Amino acid sequence: MPSAQRRASGRPQVGCEEKRSVLDSLVRTLLSQNTTDITSGRAFATLKQRFPTWEAVRAAPAADVADAIRVGGLADMKAARIQAILDTLVAERGACSLEHLRALPTPEVKAELGRFKGVGKKTASCVLLFALEREDMAVDTHVWEITKALGWVPSNASRDQAYDHLNELVPEELRYDLHVLLVRHGKACPHCAKAGSAKQQAAASSGVACPLADLKPPKAKLVAFKAAKAAASKAKGGKPKQQQQQRAGGSGEGTAAAGAAGGSDGKRRKVAAEYGQFTDPLEV
Ligand SMILES: [Zn+2]
Repeated sequence: MPSAQRRASGRPQVGCEEKRSVLDSLVRTLLSQNTTDITSGRAFATLKQRFPTWEAVRAAPAADVADAIRVGGLADMKAARIQAILDTLVAERGACSLEHLRALPTPEVKAELGRFKGVGKKTASCVLLFALEREDMAVDTHVWEITKALGWVPSNASRDQAYDHLNELVPEELRYDLHVLLVRHGKACPHCAKAGSAKQQAAASSGVACPLADLKPPKAKLVAFKAAKAAASKAKGGKPKQQQQQRAGGSGEGTAAAGAAGGSDGKRRKVAAEYGQFTDPLEV
């Protein structure tokens, strides 16, 4: 199990991975957006090579920072976001560091990171999981695709909705292992590549079998369920869609309400109810 390997080696295994300062981890994860681990790793290495400190990155002309991370794509935008984060840290705390986050509870870490432009749930979650070693189920594109295919989250869930579902459904002690293993599987398995991608289209002729195949509900059932759900939604005058938007936009409020109504169990039951609506037709 990856967590056992992490305990043994002191180093995490994949992705937005390696053990660094919290700020290193945040920048490394920002650079990994919309690109592969290899190119973003190269961009991060070049950045660290050209600028000995984060203060040097902050003080440099934006074009020089963008140039250093060019290989990772969206360089101008990412450079501006990195420098904005560094400026904020210096203005507020007098130094380019996020080490103070290690002492904060998880919700406060999420709030602290979430206010930076370009830092969404996935990026904050990776920092929590890898740099701070908190039990958070980070949802990258591989985790998202595979858990949809397994029927663990609704097939139409956005990545952020999948994140909310999985952090209620997956026990804390399994989150790190499941994240690492699903990412590793998603990278290796052509059957679990993004639907419609060239890699996925070549899966049948790859000669590789997916070890998760038996766990996936048949596609026909997913399609039939989707159609049934759409029909039900139409009959109700689009109410489910409205509920869905409220869920998507108000996860913070949902947590507070669930807390008032009996803590995590209350929210777990609520999610389980939604989840049940989704899975029942698949179990027929
Ligand atoms: Zn697979």
